[in-house]
Amino acid sequence: MSNSFSGPLADPAADAGWVDGERQPRKGFFTDTSICIGCKACEVACKEWNAIPDDGMNFLGSSYDNTGALGASTWRHVAFIEQPKSFGTQEPGIAGTPVGPPASDVLNKTSDSALSGDRSSLGTSNKVDLGLPSTTLPGDAEGAQRTEFRWLMESDVCKHCTHAACLDVCPTGALFRTEFGTVVVQDDICNGCGYCVPACPFGVIDRRVGEKGVTKNEGLAQKCTLCYDRIGTGLQPACATACPTESIQYGDVDELRERAQRRVDALHAEGVHDARLYGENSHDGVGGLGAFFLLLDEPEVYGLPPDAVVTTKDLPEMWRRAGLAAVTMLAGAIAVFTGGGR
Ligand code: SF4
Ligand code: SF4
Ligand code: SF4
Repeated sequence: MSNSFSGPLADPAADAGWVDGERQPRKGFFTDTSICIGCKACEVACKEWNAIPDDGMNFLGSSYDNTGALGASTWRHVAFIEQPKSFGTQEPGIAGTPVGPPASDVLNKTSDSALSGDRSSLGTSNKVDLGLPSTTLPGDAEGAQRTEFRWLMESDVCKHCTHAACLDVCPTGALFRTEFGTVVVQDDICNGCGYCVPACPFGVIDRRVGEKGVTKNEGLAQKCTLCYDRIGTGLQPACATACPTESIQYGDVDELRERAQRRVDALHAEGVHDARLYGENSHDGVGGLGAFFLLLDEPEVYGLPPDAVVTTKDLPEMWRRAGLAAVTMLAGAIAVFTGGGR
């Protein structure tokens, strides 16, 4: 057991002290964002399985996202990023000026007549106004040209880092490395000190805000457990089970890395040259992620740090220097004391 803080690590569970017979192959996620449809089934499944309280469920007004970011009550978050760009060499498929009236006109007329009690025109449009920020499609306004447009969707989660700073700084042992190499926080041991929150380089873990005695686990650090209670019995995590497109793929990390590389190669061959993997490299600043991603643009576009570094990387050197300083001070004190006795 080396308790390594940085660098490549063949087996995080072994590094944490799990012995043969207990240790399992490292488990994780490969999230292929190129096939995510933004349905949010993963967010809902996570909330249901883990009995996570609601976190507002507000429309933000800036996108179709309604949760905004990962947090103590959002362990899976589906980001929606709107971009004026096509998918690889894909044609928008809607070139030219649209014919006929804008769909929004039809929709508004239908809504108006329904509100005035006339239901005869209901069902003539297959669009429904859900009160989203806008019902006008890109280039759909009268006389406008259709534009290139794409949504990038990414289901984000705790990365179950090879070197997890959240775990390194926890003073109570509430955060621990499981036999599957994942990182789990235990509600009944967390004292709510919050040291783990700034330590995470991805902004994943947070303390739950709510009413004391009413909100479940109020004040305690919360994050994805990679469904420790499910994978221990041979089940898949709830989010991966619910994903209809298999954008979230669960399994042995080694096998997932190979699968991810094959998918990137296939996308490149199809002209999607921006496709790249994020977090699969065990030589990066956190020793590789247990939950890594296929992205279609720079990590910053998705709100991910481009070159994350484990925040406890320099701890051994800091302890060495602090020890050296203490020994030097002690030696000085002894010298003064013994010198003064002469
Ligand atoms: S992403 Fe953050 S919370 Fe998750 S294991 Fe890594 S350091 Fe901990
Ligand atoms: S693995 Fe489980 S806890 Fe983690 S995001 Fe998926 S459903 Fe939630
Ligand atoms: S990851 Fe899967 S379940 Fe989640 S939003 Fe995308 S397609 Fe839906």
